[in-house]
Amino acid sequence: MALPSTEHFMCPKHDTYMVPHTFQTWELSLAHGTVSGFRCPNLICPIVYVIKGALEGFYELELNGDLTPFAARQRRASKTE
Ligand SMILES: [Zn+2]
Repeated sequence: MALPSTEHFMCPKHDTYMVPHTFQTWELSLAHGTVSGFRCPNLICPIVYVIKGALEGFYELELNGDLTPFAARQRRASKTE
């Protein structure tokens, strides 16, 4: 079933389409409610895409519910300008 204006995000690690996911309060330490987003179909993959205003973007979801911005980590790793 096609959803209107469906956006697809690719996992930057696995190059696979991420699947829609609703993060529960116990999944994200920052959440004040459920948060919409996407996660990688690889269950062991920590990369998620969070859709929440200014927080929108790729993150690595830590086991304790913290989010580490994925893009920032990459930028820091490849500082060759
Ligand atoms: Zn992945």
